Amino acid sequence: MSVYLDNQAAKPVDDRVIAEMMPYFNEKFANPASLHCDGDIATDILEKSREMVANFVNAPDRSDIIFTSGATESNNLGIIGAAMRQKKKGNHIIISEIEHISILNIAKYLEKEGFRVSRVAVDRFGIIQLEKLEKLISDDTILISIATASNEVGSLQPIAEISKLAQEKGILFHTDAVASASVIPIDVQKIPIDLITLSSNDIYGPRGVGALYMKKGVRVNPIIIGGGQERGFRSGSENIPGIVGFAKAAEITKEEMPQESERLKKLRDKLIKGVLETIPKSHLNGHPEKRLPHNAHFRFDYIEGESLILTLKEHNIAAATGSACSSKTLEPSHTLIAMGLLHEEAHGSLLVSLGRTTRESDVDRLIEVLPEQVKRLRKLSPLTPSDLLKQYEEVK
Ligand code: PMP
Repeated sequence: MSVYLDNQAAKPVDDRVIAEMMPYFNEKFANPASLHCDGDIATDILEKSREMVANFVNAPDRSDIIFTSGATESNNLGIIGAAMRQKKKGNHIIISEIEHISILNIAKYLEKEGFRVSRVAVDRFGIIQLEKLEKLISDDTILISIATASNEVGSLQPIAEISKLAQEKGILFHTDAVASASVIPIDVQKIPIDLITLSSNDIYGPRGVGALYMKKGVRVNPIIIGGGQERGFRSGSENIPGIVGFAKAAEITKEEMPQESERLKKLRDKLIKGVLETIPKSHLNGHPEKRLPHNAHFRFDYIEGESLILTLKEHNIAAATGSACSSKTLEPSHTLIAMGLLHEEAHGSLLVSLGRTTRESDVDRLIEVLPEQVKRLRKLSPLTPSDLLKQYEEVK
C-alpha cells in the first residue's frame, strides 16, 4: 500500500458517499425533467441535494446553488458569466497572481475579449496585499476573483476583508473555495461572498461534479446553452448520482470538519517540525500559521522537486511538486515566483497534502524516508556546496 500524501490533487470518495450514490445509477435513474413518477423521484432528490449543498455554505436558499461539472466549469460560469453580464457596467477584473491555472487562463481569455485584467501581488508568504488590491480598483472594476486559499502553498487569504472591500465598492466578489472547502467552513451569512466555486471531489465526493453558489440577486450569463436546466444558468441533464454523492459528501464534511481539521493540523505540524528539524537547508513555503490545516509545502536547496517525487515514488510515497493541474509543464510554479522565489528555489519544492485517510504512521514514514533521500539527491547534485556535503559526511 502506498502512503498517499497528494490529497490536493485528488481525494478518495468516501464509502458513505458511494453507498448513497449507488441506487441512482440503475434503480432511481430517471431524468428529473420527465413528468412521470420516476421523474418526480429524481426531481425530489435533486432538490434535496441542492438543499444539502446550500447548507454546506449556509446559503439561505437552495436555489442559490447551481450544479456544474466541477470547479473548472464553476470558475468559468462565475467569472466569464459575471463579466459578460456586466459588460455594460465596466470592463475591469481583478484576480491575484497566484490563482489556479483555470482562473489564470479564464483571465487571458477575457483579455482577448476586450476586458482589462489586473493581477494583485502577494507577499512572500503568498498572501494578498489588501492595500495593493484597493489601489487596483477603479470605476470600471466589475469583478474581483481571489481564491480562499492557495492550492499550492496553502496560504489563507483575507477573504472577509476582500468581501467587505468589494461590497463597499459595489463590485462582485467571486472566490474559488476548492482548496479550503474540506477543512475551513464557509458561511455566506457571515461573509457575504457573491459567487463561490465548489467541487465535489475536494470534499471526498465523486469527480466531475461541482457547484457555483450565487448570492440572491447576483446574475451571470450562462456559458452552456441548451435545455434550460439549473434555472437556465447551466443547461444539460443533471448528473444525479454525482449530485447525490456531492450532497452526501457536503453533509459529512460539514459535520466532521471541526474535529478533522484539528486532527490534520496536528499531523501537519508534526510533519513540518519533523522535516525542518532533520533536513538542513529546508524551508516551509507559505505562511507558518495562516495556512490550510492539511497542507505542507517545502523547499529543499540544491535539488529538483521532480527528482524527489520520483525517489519518493520508489518508496511508495505519493506526493507532488505543486498543483497537479500544472505539473506537466516544466515551468517553475507561478505561485512561488509571485512570492519572490528565484527560479532555482522554486524548482526544489515538495507539496504534501494530507486528508481523511492520512494516519500518523503515514506522516512518520515520510519523516523517516525524506531526510535520507534529500541527502542522496544532494550528493548527486553539482549545486550542493562542499560544506553541506562535509556536514553530511560528519554525521554518517
Ligand atoms: N480550482 C482549484 C483551486 C483546484 O485545486 C482545482 C483542481 N482540483 C480546480 C479549480 C479545477 O478542478 P477540476 O479539474 O475538478 O475542474
